[in-house]
Amino acid sequence: MKVAFFSSQPYDQDSFEITNQHYGHDLTFLESRLTPKTARLAEGSEAICIFINDDAGQAALRILADLGIRLIALRCAGFNNVDLAVAKELGITLVRVPAYSPYSVAEHAVGLIMTLNRRLYRAYNRVRDDNFSLNGLLGFDIYGKTVGVVGTGKIGQCFAQIMNGFGCKILAYDVRPNQACVDIGVTYVELPELFVQADIISLHCPLLPATHYMINADSIQQMKPGVMLINTSRGALMDTRAVIEGIKSGQIGYLGTDVYEEEEDLFFRDLSGTIIQDDTFQLLQSFSNVVITAHQAFFTKEALGNIADTTLANISDIAAGKPCSNEVK
Ligand code: NAD
Repeated sequence: MKVAFFSSQPYDQDSFEITNQHYGHDLTFLESRLTPKTARLAEGSEAICIFINDDAGQAALRILADLGIRLIALRCAGFNNVDLAVAKELGITLVRVPAYSPYSVAEHAVGLIMTLNRRLYRAYNRVRDDNFSLNGLLGFDIYGKTVGVVGTGKIGQCFAQIMNGFGCKILAYDVRPNQACVDIGVTYVELPELFVQADIISLHCPLLPATHYMINADSIQQMKPGVMLINTSRGALMDTRAVIEGIKSGQIGYLGTDVYEEEEDLFFRDLSGTIIQDDTFQLLQSFSNVVITAHQAFFTKEALGNIADTTLANISDIAAGKPCSNEVK
């Protein structure tokens, strides 16, 4: 199949070209993010492949349908950036990669915890500057702390298993509890109780209308003063303005986030030579107890290989008219 890749980076091209030797599709790599303005770049292709910050809303979908695009292959798990109702109306099939490495994201969440707790970002810079003072680097033992896991699917389960290894008490909230978590001693509680009891809260649920801004002024007030908040899921799970107020008041003691609600205008690009216009983002990253990574939690060799393999297999299934278990219905 002829497939145009939007938002493609050199590492996408590398992993897909290597994996495509087994599939033989005709791949075109475009740097542009999919928007209504760029959708026409797909002309001549039969399918497009998109990532998390591509805009597959109604306007872009209608242009793609006019070009004859009948398949959108998401090279990610989430599909909150696609207007599902319009895609269905236009007869566009959607496929995705539901799992590629839950370890990659769970391990990154733990990395954020350790970076914040032991101030590794400050320690690294200090030692390079021949400043060997420990003042301001005081951490706490993770052992024995209460960790709240919101969403215990593939990534949340993996995260809970790692934190179990640290000797933490683990509380979880999920609309569908996971028996594998119960088996390792995770206790399911309601969300308000998790907010009240947890020393560290890590978000691993999808972005849905029900979870949008689940971290807001009210829920932050319920949390333990000085709580550590980790978000490797989706930016809009948190009301960023409320989080900033929580940091300023000291209610939030640490924030580690791999996602940001307005990230599509920032992440995955080198903007180091420009002036960032997003005041909220600039304020957020000015705090010394905040660590932001630019949606890199998934970014491991294993995950990239699995993403390419599953995406190309999905495209082959649809091209051959076979049922595809990764179709988004
Ligand atoms: P999953 O589908 O395996 O698990 C999601 C869990 O959330 C499920 O157990 C589900 O029951 C639960 N859930 C649904 N609604 C909920 C609600 N209202 N409250 C609490 N829990 C709810 O998904 P996963 O593979 O574990 O991925 C989780 C999320 O991680 C994805 O939705 C995505 O947003 C994010 N993610 C981020 C990266 C990254 O690089 N930062 C990479 C992959 C996934």
